[in-house]
Amino acid sequence: GLVHPAQIFGGDRVNSKGWDLTDDGVLAEIFAARDVALPNAHPLTVAAPSGTAQPVTNPATGETIGEVIEADKATVEAGLDNARPWTAPAAERAAVLRRVADLYEANYGVLFAILAKEAGKSLLDAVGELREAVDFLRYYAQEGETSPRSPRGIFTAISPWNFPLAIFTGQIAAALMAGNAVLAKPAEQTPIIATKAVELMHEAGVPREVLQLLTGRGATVGAALTSDKRVKGVVFTGSTDTAQRINRTMAEHLEPGTPLIAETGGLNAMIVDSTALSEQAVRDVVASAFQSAGQRCSALRCLYLQEDSAPHVIEMIKGAMDQLTVGNPWDLTTDVGPVIDREARDEIAGYVAQKSNSIMHQIAAPSEGTFVAPTMLKVSGINDLEREIFGPVLHIATFKARDLDKIVAEVNARGFGLTFGLHTRIDDRVQNISEAIHAGNIYVNRNQIGAVVGSQPFGGEGLSGTGPKAGGPLYLPRFFAPEPGLAEA
Ligand code: GLU
Repeated sequence: GLVHPAQIFGGDRVNSKGWDLTDDGVLAEIFAARDVALPNAHPLTVAAPSGTAQPVTNPATGETIGEVIEADKATVEAGLDNARPWTAPAAERAAVLRRVADLYEANYGVLFAILAKEAGKSLLDAVGELREAVDFLRYYAQEGETSPRSPRGIFTAISPWNFPLAIFTGQIAAALMAGNAVLAKPAEQTPIIATKAVELMHEAGVPREVLQLLTGRGATVGAALTSDKRVKGVVFTGSTDTAQRINRTMAEHLEPGTPLIAETGGLNAMIVDSTALSEQAVRDVVASAFQSAGQRCSALRCLYLQEDSAPHVIEMIKGAMDQLTVGNPWDLTTDVGPVIDREARDEIAGYVAQKSNSIMHQIAAPSEGTFVAPTMLKVSGINDLEREIFGPVLHIATFKARDLDKIVAEVNARGFGLTFGLHTRIDDRVQNISEAIHAGNIYVNRNQIGAVVGSQPFGGEGLSGTGPKAGGPLYLPRFFAPEPGLAEA
């Protein structure tokens, strides 16, 4: 059933501890970590792992920054054989997760270094990401510490490269807090941060047979971990296509009723009407479309501007885009870093090249490394977007007030339902549109990225995911075995 009600968020965000990038001590720690070679990546399993070595690349420079051992079939098989649920009492599991959070915080220098070099994260994005990872650990610890419920058994956790620490950690923390054995498969592009994170989890006291890391390919590791009968649950964040493939594999091979908790793509829209405060709307549009180089599934893809104020707002967005610095993640002035790899760059750049007649504005980007120039494209509406372009590309359409219902209908008809943004000062409009739009997270008069654990549970409906929402009260319960006699949500 539906376990991810839409929620409306306004106002600013509240976060846990951050790192002040104007503090000399913090900067010294970060820059010291930058100059140290990164650790290598490898499976962390009970039995000695085997596999093939592959290089890991820094997207901003194209340099090889380390290597990863990609687990072979035998290693995955041994991982499944050796996996054991976490039998320690819930309060003890919670204490260990809190210790992981403390270790993450203490190791911010090296974690930021890996996020910047391996995932191309700007320092500001790295700060947000570490904060979110820590929030997930403490939040699920708190949610689960008094729960008497039992685990499902072995959980497979498959995570994406765009939040290679936060989403990776969030999935694992929930599965562990429920007492499951976890086999974690990180994205192929970001195995180093995953290895470092699991080392810290083991150091904090998560037993090795409870949490094993299987770095490697989707075709080997992912396929095995979603088709072995011993697996009792899968949590996945990534593309809608991959989620659908996993769903089919699970239906064919796993016990009926084995849960797939999936958070997938989006085709997210924002409506800015003529009553909106344009300075605020422009700031929020630029953050929603271009922060993290547009590589968030929450990112704004299609902006609808009301016709009479559109020329003015478009000029302001162009001006704001001109102020963005695209460059090396290490530079404190960088707003937009590289996209994750060559394949991604070529796909996004190829898409923009195809639409060259519709370019309204574009700013410069470095030619070395996998940078993509932030671009504004003219469209007539969301139906001109063939698919989700996972990069810094903002599509803009204009509308007349009488067409608002039609816009809502056309956004809904695309079948995704992740985030939606609305800028208006008309209260009735907030009410009507947020009731009509199909989206998990609706943001009013603010940006539509950066959901905060505990106060803004994150997740969508339709093609955007199965729910329950991460960082909300319905998430952890899904990782426990169903209670006898109770139908599952
Ligand atoms: N939770 C993130 C946000 O709100 C997005 C997660 C994702 O891209 O998968 O921006």
